[in-house]
Amino acid sequence: MVNVLRDAHNRTIRDLRVSLTDRCNFRCFYCLPNGEPPLARKDTILTFEEIAEICEIFVSLGIEKIRLTGGEPLLRRDVEKLVEKIALLKVPSPKSQDSGFRFQVSGKNPKSKIQNPKSVDLALTTNGFSLKERAKDLKKAGLDRVTISLDSLKRENFQRITGVDKLGEVLEAIEAAKQVGFAPVKINAVIVRGYNETEVIEFARFARENNLSFRFIEFMPLDSGHEWKREMVVSGREICDKINASFPLKLKETSRGSETAWKYEFADGANGEIGIIAPVTEMFCGACSRIRLTADGQIRTCLFSTIEHNLRDVLRSGATRTEIVEFIRQVVMKKEARHHINDAEFVQPTRTMSFIGG
Ligand code: SAM
Repeated sequence: MVNVLRDAHNRTIRDLRVSLTDRCNFRCFYCLPNGEPPLARKDTILTFEEIAEICEIFVSLGIEKIRLTGGEPLLRRDVEKLVEKIALLKVPSPKSQDSGFRFQVSGKNPKSKIQNPKSVDLALTTNGFSLKERAKDLKKAGLDRVTISLDSLKRENFQRITGVDKLGEVLEAIEAAKQVGFAPVKINAVIVRGYNETEVIEFARFARENNLSFRFIEFMPLDSGHEWKREMVVSGREICDKINASFPLKLKETSRGSETAWKYEFADGANGEIGIIAPVTEMFCGACSRIRLTADGQIRTCLFSTIEHNLRDVLRSGATRTEIVEFIRQVVMKKEARHHINDAEFVQPTRTMSFIGG
């Protein structure tokens, strides 16, 4: 049997988020408002070979979904080559007796011992600035899904929020992603009071008109400026009620499993989908299946972890596969039961979302 990753709270870990870089070319006020914090030294950043090797090991341990993120992942040159390697990974069958089989991650025919042809689900989160030019190659390389951040549909407000005048490029990126066949294209919008809560209905209309899965995210205390205030959080409930008043919504499933979003369809049958992600007001830690790898090779067991686990040094020390697997298993056992955003003693992590990988 495949010995899957399970934490001390009996949660199975199925979802790996990999930050490819801590660099970003946007300056979203809720993430990196004051320019870049000191960047990681180049020699500490994992190479694509190292990332592919780590992903292969994680997949052999039951990881089914991998999301490439950052920083801005498309700032890393040749991401398509990495996508090609990871897309070849196959999720072992639960019935497989072989818990440690390997894949030729660099070859084109990783056939040995594969008993179940289900590929890992590979997604990418991007700000979209260069996706128009790269969507086709990413799709061809084997990327399954793409999520594009879009925090305003108004040029001036977009610039106020992101620090860059790139709304046109992002809208083109969304169109390009649809054209090359990513379906559905997901959009992330962080809704912050005083910035874009007045655009919620327009976002929903945009989702309907363009057949998008539009995900509304509560503002979390992960900004480098440490300016997060509870009053700035627009709750998932408020967002949902607002949309529902203009475009009645129907909950798609009464359980969301380990997903972050409550998903709604439009009651009138229109295209598109609404996702509500409410980590602050409706914590979903009990069903969390996620683990994160930073660009410099640290495992984080929670977005809000205040400690990290140095997988890079283990890997570079020449550890055997068995030792690496053991290290990962021990780290997973330390996964926090829940976050503490709503507790008086909450301490914001020193690393921001741009470094951790959203
Ligand atoms: N650069 C890519 C992008 O813009 O989508 C990927 C990295 S970004 C850190 C990933 C996601 O995290 C984005 O959708 C962003 O909106 C979200 N995010 C960043 N800071 C956040 C915060 N403080 N609260 C909630 N979401 C945040």
